[in-house]
Amino acid sequence: MGGSPLRVLVVGAGIAGLAVARALRLAGFRPDVTERLPPAESTDTGLYLPGNAARAMRRLDLDGPLRPLGQVIHRQRFLDAAGAPLCEVDLDALWTGVGECRALPRAELLGVLLTGAGGAVRHGAEVSTVDPLPGGVAVGFTDGTSAEYDLVVGADGPRSAVRTLAALGGPPRPAGHVVYRALVRGGPRIADWTALLGQRAGFLVVPLGAGRLYCYADEAGTDLPADPLARLRELFGSYGGPVPEVLDALETVCVERTEEVELGRWFHGRVLLVGDAAHATAPTLSQGAAMALEDAVVLAESLRAAGSVDAALLAYESRRRPRTRWVRDRTRDRNRTRDVPPALRDPLLRGRGGRIFREHYRLLTGPL
Ligand SMILES: Cc1cc2nc3c(=O)[nH]c(=O)nc-3n(C[C@H](O)[C@H](O)[C@H](O)COP(=O)(O)OP(=O)(O)OC[C@H]3O[C@@H](n4cnc5c(N)ncnc54)[C@H](O)[C@@H]3O)c2cc1C
Repeated sequence: MGGSPLRVLVVGAGIAGLAVARALRLAGFRPDVTERLPPAESTDTGLYLPGNAARAMRRLDLDGPLRPLGQVIHRQRFLDAAGAPLCEVDLDALWTGVGECRALPRAELLGVLLTGAGGAVRHGAEVSTVDPLPGGVAVGFTDGTSAEYDLVVGADGPRSAVRTLAALGGPPRPAGHVVYRALVRGGPRIADWTALLGQRAGFLVVPLGAGRLYCYADEAGTDLPADPLARLRELFGSYGGPVPEVLDALETVCVERTEEVELGRWFHGRVLLVGDAAHATAPTLSQGAAMALEDAVVLAESLRAAGSVDAALLAYESRRRPRTRWVRDRTRDRNRTRDVPPALRDPLLRGRGGRIFREHYRLLTGPL
């Protein structure tokens, strides 16, 4: 179907939506992209991209603009709450032949994807109705306009309106953690991805290059604190390693709950869900962006290879299911270990932690 005048609407200009727009443009389509938010700056956070994200960016021909950004990460270090080493993962060895692991500000990845998508996003327009037509979809927008498409791609995140409008599923499920994120300048010098594992809580610091650090912390629970910075200091004030210096350097902290989306089907008629709208998980494995980028690559390949849109959507879903299911299941496995008391968990991690953590990515280092 390459080069055909297929009319495609992508809903959402996050990582998934922009990556889909990029992949479809490379495949000869000219999708419309609509985003409910204005192009205003939001509070930036960091993003850690494992090697399969780099591979997907290469397939989107965007590895060149990505390469100067952020910092390549060579090693993951796991420490106990006091800062004593538990285990390590050699990331260059784990992702050899796939791609580099990188940490960067989220806004910088979105900037690369937006340029790659051709830059034309319609902002401030939310989808309000999605009605099936024979071989297509009628879409209404909150600004009163409407249009017909051959395919609507819902890339509108874990709380997807498209998912509800197309009767593919309801609200996301809480995944059971409150997460705190911040960008830090002037903190300690840290070269590696460094996580301190406590009792039902963890504190992660990742270097982003140019003296910046990305701080990510979480605790079990669902109640959001009134003062996230005070709560972070209370939770992690007794931790060792780099934590005291990072806590001192913190200024603005974003807080939210983790959410999970698990659906029986990803498409209904000519409406398809991708990215977090289809398969959000808690960010424990840092695979959300990689899965969204891979979705885009595989969707474009499926549309190019199949004889019809319907066949392409079927092929797409059957190719993507095993990898996203793997991420969800390994995420749940790893989250369960947080409930194990450190006195039991830490000796196990000292002996076998490196092997256990590498195993969580086994399927993902294989072919896309
Ligand atoms: C705390 C946290 C930390 C994370 N850390 C990492 C990490 O380090 N590495 C990693 O790979 N992943 C990480 N993730 C996961 C990653 O952020 C997501 O998987 C990824 O952003 C999914 O992208 P998306 O485009 O599917 O959804 P989103 O990023 O949610 O984008 C959806 C877009 O759609 C727009 N939208 C929503 N509704 C509508 C509508 N009705 N009409 C039009 N537009 C709409 C939204 O405004 C938004 O721009 C993390 C997630 C969380 C919560």
